[in-house]
Amino acid sequence: MKLICIGRNYAKHIAELDNEKPEYPVVFLKPDSAILLKQHPFVIPEFTENVHYEVEVLVKIKKLGKYIDKKFAPSYYDEIGLGIDFTARDLQKKLKEKGLPWEKAKAFDGSAVIGKWLSKEALGSVNAIPFSLEKNGTIVQDGNTQSMLWKIDELISYVSQYFTLKIGDIIFTGTPAGVGPVAPNDKLKGFLGKEAMFTIKVK
Ligand code: ZN
Repeated sequence: MKLICIGRNYAKHIAELDNEKPEYPVVFLKPDSAILLKQHPFVIPEFTENVHYEVEVLVKIKKLGKYIDKKFAPSYYDEIGLGIDFTARDLQKKLKEKGLPWEKAKAFDGSAVIGKWLSKEALGSVNAIPFSLEKNGTIVQDGNTQSMLWKIDELISYVSQYFTLKIGDIIFTGTPAGVGPVAPNDKLKGFLGKEAMFTIKVK
């Protein structure tokens, strides 16, 4: 399975990193080795001095598809989740400056946190889901899928032009504003609505 990640999907986050608003969704992949194992702490890798959390809404693909029309996209997923796209921001900055791929900064071991899953029916409209991230008990990111530049069904349609979507693939739909660094002993807790979706300790 693969993790398909979207960058720059929330206007306020684009502004905080001083990025340009893209004409098309920014897409990158993480391998399955990036998934942080359940109950494991997130260990800050030795190659970075500045790892950021990015809380993101996740979509789990349940059907094989390619060139999916936006209007049929809802039949490709039943479950919505929440995760973190950990990013070595210092390394990403260097790679971006040189126009190089981001993988070393984005796709390293443990960089993808995947919390529990909820049925989309239980959430009402997938285009109005509030979500948040707490760091050490304080809310640091607070978003709503209604602020996405490209909504879930548009993202499925877009990425399926390039990658065949397979059962179990997961889409990371981008992070809202408020990204920031983690340090050893931090505790991160993610919420979809009021539902706690994951708790991660940093080492
Ligand atoms: Zn991200």
